[in-house]
Amino acid sequence: MTRSRAACMTLVLLLVMACSATAQTRHDVAFPDLPGYETLLCDFHMHSVFSDGNVWPTVRVDEAWRLGLDAIALTDHIEYQPHRADVPTNHNRPFELAVGKALEAGILFPRATEITRDTPPGHFNAIFLSDVEPLDTEDFVEAIEQANKQGAFVFWNHQSWKGEEKGRWMDVHTTLLENGWLHGMEVCNGGGYHPTAHRWCVEKGLTMLGNSDIHAPDISGRTTADEHRTLTLVFVKERTVDGLKEALQAGRTAVWFNNQMIGRAEWLEGLLAEAIEIAPVHRRGKDYVSTKVANRMDVEVQLERTGSAGPASITLPPRSTTMVRIGTKSPNEPVDLTYEATNFLVAPGEGLSVSVTVE
Ligand code: ZN
Repeated sequence: MTRSRAACMTLVLLLVMACSATAQTRHDVAFPDLPGYETLLCDFHMHSVFSDGNVWPTVRVDEAWRLGLDAIALTDHIEYQPHRADVPTNHNRPFELAVGKALEAGILFPRATEITRDTPPGHFNAIFLSDVEPLDTEDFVEAIEQANKQGAFVFWNHQSWKGEEKGRWMDVHTTLLENGWLHGMEVCNGGGYHPTAHRWCVEKGLTMLGNSDIHAPDISGRTTADEHRTLTLVFVKERTVDGLKEALQAGRTAVWFNNQMIGRAEWLEGLLAEAIEIAPVHRRGKDYVSTKVANRMDVEVQLERTGSAGPASITLPPRSTTMVRIGTKSPNEPVDLTYEATNFLVAPGEGLSVSVTVE
């Protein structure tokens, strides 16, 4: 090979490498880690051509990478397979096809499925399975028991969806709960919020989840406050599949739905504590002080005053800094502010209460 030919080949090779490196650009999403926990952005409900989805399993991994997700579960229906004539029934195959790609991308990818029955009992996802096949059984309770024998995390999907008995808590659900076989519920699924599921999670100590249940290809380029899938934030001690399972079993989640956060007070408080930064007062007038408040998350924070000081309402847009002027008769003294974060829900219709002192 001549020297110029070799140089030319090297250039081509470099170009090919550069193209493959940039073909899939990941856009990171801003949520803070909490003290002792890493925050993972997760979607535990999605479909491929192996049930009623419209994409090949590996496409879900590409989407997750592009959209800044950290963990996904491919949950094809066991009982509903409209593409059966073209795609053979093999409940483990979607996982096997996509797991290599997930490992390469560093996306946590537990083996999973959707147990799909008319309401009641409804649809349930089982994740962290070792083998989906034993769940393909006539008896619903037996399928759930099989999932639990494998150490799965089981949750009830879109609780108020479809059927005469939709949304009702039946004896079969009590059976699952009493056996320790039901661990969570989707409080949000796609574009739907299920306040009853939310209330049951609070009352029964179930883990709150929000998932996309996506069937079509996801054509969005990035995840933003204005345009994001319904997702679950999981606060893990370690970024592994086992770490993910431990966090879900312990209920360390927050649901990101339609520019709102839904979860237990301690996790929502943690997010606000880490992401909101109040600068020292930079201006003291005769009867006011001015400060700057930064929001470093990809979710807006909407505050309504419940105390006596501060503006009646404050909106902190995602990834930005807002000037706040606080009226006070003693501008050289600290001011106590008490607000309700109305889009950070700790129960249906109930925002998180927050108190801060501006020094
Ligand atoms: Zn589904």
